[in-house]
Amino acid sequence: MTFLYKADPARGAVWAELLAQKMPELPFRIWPDIGDPHAVRFLAAWEPPRDLATQFPNLEILFSTGAGTDQFDFAAIPPALPVVRMVESGIVQGMVEYVTLAVLAQHRDWRTYQAQQRAGTWQAHRVQPASSRRVGVLGLGTLGRAVLERQRSFGFPCAGWSRSPQQLYGVDCHHGPEGLQALLARTDILICLLPLTDSTRGILCQRLFDQLPRGATLINVGRGGHLVQDDLLQALGTGRLGNAVLDVCDPEPLPPGHPFWTHPQVVLTPHIASMTQPETAVDAVVENLRRYRQGLPMVGLVDRTLGY
Ligand code: NDP
Repeated sequence: MTFLYKADPARGAVWAELLAQKMPELPFRIWPDIGDPHAVRFLAAWEPPRDLATQFPNLEILFSTGAGTDQFDFAAIPPALPVVRMVESGIVQGMVEYVTLAVLAQHRDWRTYQAQQRAGTWQAHRVQPASSRRVGVLGLGTLGRAVLERQRSFGFPCAGWSRSPQQLYGVDCHHGPEGLQALLARTDILICLLPLTDSTRGILCQRLFDQLPRGATLINVGRGGHLVQDDLLQALGTGRLGNAVLDVCDPEPLPPGHPFWTHPQVVLTPHIASMTQPETAVDAVVENLRRYRQGLPMVGLVDRTLGY
């Protein structure tokens, strides 16, 4: 019985060390050193091999090394194979840090002051109270909730949107297509933390931007496929949107010469908002293996009918 890892080998080496301590009875291998393919029962991968079903006929669980599974080709994964995404505290912490940085930079006019410094300008602008800056989050899952909790602590009026009804202390929760309009109408800083599915692809489009207050900020930390790039460029050009912070794009990396690279209203980062941390990820996997063996539901089990 083998646990196979197929992602960044440097982080894989840390997984190997940690799993050896926490589950010494479970042999661990790093791709491409797969050993006997019939022995592979558990696979943790960012991108599984195409011929998964034939290559590893005895596979029992496919773990994603990331929080999302949109990079998986579900058509090539046996329907009965449990797919588990990564739910671990390191990813949550990183995302909260990144979004807080982006929200506070916007709230406190950070880019204006950077530009003023370069121009040798000493000019103060009025500090707006947090209570006047309305934050809205698309996605009330593990990450959306943690992000909202932190933003709420600064005093920003907070709202969130999900597929099914959710409740979160101090957050105005909306759901479903009819709830989206209400969320957008009251949102100055919009954060996308949705999974990329057939229902959410292209959601960040002109129709959505038109429902935000003029000059709103977009922070996309979901996936590049959520955004219709030309619509964003147009919305920034007309002043419908004021700024955008994009941690994800499609494709990654963007091709040289793409307008986002040099756009004065766009901050672009290379998909680093948060990263799976081996120390906490291994704990999450060990806990899920324990649950699996005891017949308990695993944390992060993907509902294949919903795609997340
Ligand atoms: P979860 O699965 O925990 O939460 C997803 C949320 O989105 C849920 O609230 C869900 O609603 C909602 N949702 C899904 N589909 C729809 C829909 N059609 N309409 C309205 N709401 C919808 O995911 P996480 O919070 O763990 O992660 C979210 C995403 O963040 C990941 O899928 C990934 O794409 C991205 N991510 C980005 C990273 C980065 O570095 N940039 C790092 C990690 C993740 P409901 O509550 O009703 O189920």
